[in-house]
Amino acid sequence: MSIVIVNKISELREIIKKEKSAGKKIGLVPTMGCLHNGHKSLMLKAVQNADFTVISVFVNPIQFCPGEDYDKYPRTLDSDKKIAESAAVDVIFAPSVNEMYPGLEKFSDLTMVVPPYELTDIMCGKSRVGHFDGVETVVSKLFNIVQPDIACFGMKDIQQLFLIKKMVKDLNFPVEIIECPLVREESGLALSSRNKYLSEKEKEYALSISKTLFLIGEAVKNGIIDTKKLLDIALTNLNKNVELEYLEFVNKDTFEKIDEINHTAICAMAARVGDVRLIDNIIIEV
Ligand code: AMP
Repeated sequence: MSIVIVNKISELREIIKKEKSAGKKIGLVPTMGCLHNGHKSLMLKAVQNADFTVISVFVNPIQFCPGEDYDKYPRTLDSDKKIAESAAVDVIFAPSVNEMYPGLEKFSDLTMVVPPYELTDIMCGKSRVGHFDGVETVVSKLFNIVQPDIACFGMKDIQQLFLIKKMVKDLNFPVEIIECPLVREESGLALSSRNKYLSEKEKEYALSISKTLFLIGEAVKNGIIDTKKLLDIALTNLNKNVELEYLEFVNKDTFEKIDEINHTAICAMAARVGDVRLIDNIIIEV
């Protein structure tokens, strides 16, 4: 059956109701579109684990901070449709902003889902103030609209994944979160919709982000577990055209900052190449 694009919540609810009453297990993959193979890996996972898969394509205004790229974020529904089709997704839910936030004049009027401050005052949350409030709010809305049995999220956005899992637990959403590994280009560059903004030259500089993370992984294997020393290694190796926003080491299970790698850890980085903000991370097993 060919893929269906649905713009209205009421229409999607009807479709889901029918599928659920036929005993189908529903899968959801929330995205902002401009789909690539990273997204496709999530879709394939969802299709594998559910009988009926919905992906959402929605550039969510409330998760962008002032001055960020909301207006220029690539909107590519035609090619998104082809990629979703190739993964055997059943429905693309592509609502308008007004459909998701009807009549809203300012986003401060909205009831929001807000993660704990300590978990957002680090990594991406520190510079993108309010970003994760916007993410958790839209994901909660999507969970309520689609009522999925499973939902797939990528380890590319590792802080987001941690916060979504916590939200599901804290707020008793009846959904199983499936974590999907970070997908890279052969060069090592983490796939991202924002890679589209990079010139060839900037793409070369951007490679230094994953290279530096891999170097840190090697250093830990060679016995360097002091995160200050690891940060020094990063700073001396990162390409000078890459402007570091943060390089942080946290415990994978708690997201607490660590001074030494003596438990499975995440080393996460955000950096700018030109105007483009990129994120990447590695999991360090010890
Ligand atoms: P986005 O469209 O950027 O909001 O991402 C939608 C979902 O795709 C999120 O769960 C991301 O973590 C995931 N995703 C994006 N890029 C990748 C990647 N390179 N590898 C794995 N998952 C990804």
